[in-house]
Formats: sequence, C-alpha cells, structure tokens
Amino acid sequence: MNAVGTQRDLETMVHEGGHAIHSFLSKDFDLNHFKSTPAEVAELASMSMELISMEVWGEFYKDNNMLARARRQKIEDTLITLPWVAIVDSFQHWLYENPEHTREQRREKWLKINNTFSSGLVDHEGLEEGLMNAWQKQMHIFEVPFYYIEYGFAQMGAISLWEQFEANPAKGIEGYKNFMKLGYTKTIPELYEAAGIKFDFSSGYVEHLAEFMKGKL
Ligand SMILES: [Zn+2]
Repeated sequence: MNAVGTQRDLETMVHEGGHAIHSFLSKDFDLNHFKSTPAEVAELASMSMELISMEVWGEFYKDNNMLARARRQKIEDTLITLPWVAIVDSFQHWLYENPEHTREQRREKWLKINNTFSSGLVDHEGLEEGLMNAWQKQMHIFEVPFYYIEYGFAQMGAISLWEQFEANPAKGIEGYKNFMKLGYTKTIPELYEAAGIKFDFSSGYVEHLAEFMKGKL
C-alpha cells in the first residue's frame, strides 16, 4: 500500500486488513479452491472491516472534528458507490450487447443511464465533455467486462454487517468471523447467511439499508 498521510491510506489499510483476516481464518483447508472466494465474498470481508473499524478510528484521528469528518466521508462514499456500480453495470451490458453502436450513440447512452441513476444535484456546466466520457475511467469495462456488480453486492452486505455490529457488537463480530472461516466451501447465499445477513437485492431491503445509513449520517 501507499502511505502518505491521507484518509484513503487508513481505509486501504483496514480494507486489506479484512482480506488478511479472511486468509488467516480460511488457511487450513486442504484444497486451494476452498481458500479463495469470489469477489462478492472476498470484498464482504474487506468492506465490512472498513465500516466496523470506524468505531476505533480515534486511534488515528486524535482531533474529534477530524474524526467526525473522516467518518462522514466514509458513509457518503459508501452510499455513492451503489449508484456508480449500477451505472457501470447497466452501461457495459448495453455496450457489449450492441457492438455496432457509434461513438455518438455511446455517449448518448452513457448520459441517459447516468441521468437515470443520478440525483441531478451536481451542476456539470462547462464540464459536459468530461461527463460524457466519464465511463472511460472505469478500467473494468475494458479489462474485465461484466465484473463490477460484485462490488455492489459486497457493499450492501457490508452495510448490513455493520448494522448488525452496531446493534450487537459481539454478534456482529461472530457473524463476521463465521462466514470467513467457511472459505469457499459454501455457496455465496449460504456464506452471507453464515454472516447473519441476507443476499437480497429487493427494493425493500435496499431501502432498509439506505435508511440505516441515513441514520448513521
Ligand atoms: Zn478488496
């Protein structure tokens, strides 16, 4: 990792720390395939750690205003991730299903999808060119097509695990360790269940998690 004294350094450290604990807890399986989980599960370990660890970020931020600012930023970023994942996923499906499209159609489609999932609160006046081409910053579209929505799954799982931890820290940690210990010996929904959370993308569940995050903000 890079460490130059930014908030991002702290987040990266706890994120990778989550992956590390996952590796330790599942290291004794005989088969390597049981030790390595797909992104929906691997990122649940790391993204949950980012949220759960916020409680002890005072170790890094001695100033209470800085601490509050770091936490607020984290919660905002967590929420912003979800529509961005939706936009990228939707766009790349259209992109690869319509290989004959023109550059102009591509920009139009991107803007349309972007507007569908955006709040419309950001003024892009004078930056239209950048907005039209913003999809180019997401390397997954070029390098690993269709591999992106997993971050959305894991992010929602992490919010749910954090909610569980906030309600009952001991139970939250128990669920957190439980799914990691299983490595990849169970299906993804079963692993989420072992964590005490749901692998659910219904609008009711998304709304429930959003309400929880709003409360934390
Ligand atoms: Zn990760």
